[in-house]
Formats: sequence, structure tokens, C-alpha cells
Amino acid sequence: MLKKIDHLGIAVHSIAEARHFYETVLGLTCEKEEEVASQKVRTAFFVLGETHIELLEPTADDSPIAKFLSSRGEGLHHVAYRSSDVDEQLRQAKDKGCTLIHATPITGAGNKQVAFLHPKSSHGVLTEFCSGEQK
Ligand code: ZN
Repeated sequence: MLKKIDHLGIAVHSIAEARHFYETVLGLTCEKEEEVASQKVRTAFFVLGETHIELLEPTADDSPIAKFLSSRGEGLHHVAYRSSDVDEQLRQAKDKGCTLIHATPITGAGNKQVAFLHPKSSHGVLTEFCSGEQK
């Protein structure tokens, strides 16, 4: 079952440059920065109530974020929904005809279990299901 919008993922060329807007203009606090080697991205999470803004910067030319930036430029990359059971959420989406990018969850930033639906199945918005933080 979905619980809330966990975070919004925003693709940027440079976290160092983009953080000015989130910290100085919006007044948000950066909670943590983390490199996710498996996805070839560096992430920075800004807190806003129960939700986070996740900035995504590519760490390699073949990073999925590098490909996104070269085809679409900076901007909203994905919407992440917190689920009580990511496996079950994926099964239900598949049963209802969605194309999955991940058939089973992978480990993402914050050690969360994450999985993505193909944007063709979700009207152009890359959709992530994620668990709560696994400590
Ligand atoms: Zn995300």
C-alpha cells in the first residue's frame, strides 16, 4: 500500500551549483549527500516536512542520469512513492499491465529498497516505489 510521496527526484548537472537554489532561495536544509555507485549518481536530499527533494547528479557518462540530461535537460526526473511493501507493489502494478524497469527491488540511496516502473506505463513520469529507510 502506498503511504505518501517519499521524494521527488530532480536531475541536475551539478549538485554544487543547484544547491544554491534549494538552500538559499527555498531555505531547505540538505540532510545528506550520498553516492549510489550502482546507479552512477551522486544524490543530495533536502528536507521539506515529511517529503524530500532528491537532487541527482551523474558520476559517469553512461549514468542513466547523464542520458536523461542529454535528452531532456535538467528537471523533474521521477516521483517516488513510499510503499509498505515494495515487492507487493510491483506485483500489483505488473498484474495491472505496467511495464517494470525492475522486476524485483534494488538497493538505492539510504539503503532503501527501490524499484521503478517504466514511464510509458505511467504517462511520462518515471515512477519509483521505495521502502522506508533500512537502518
Ligand atoms: Zn528516488
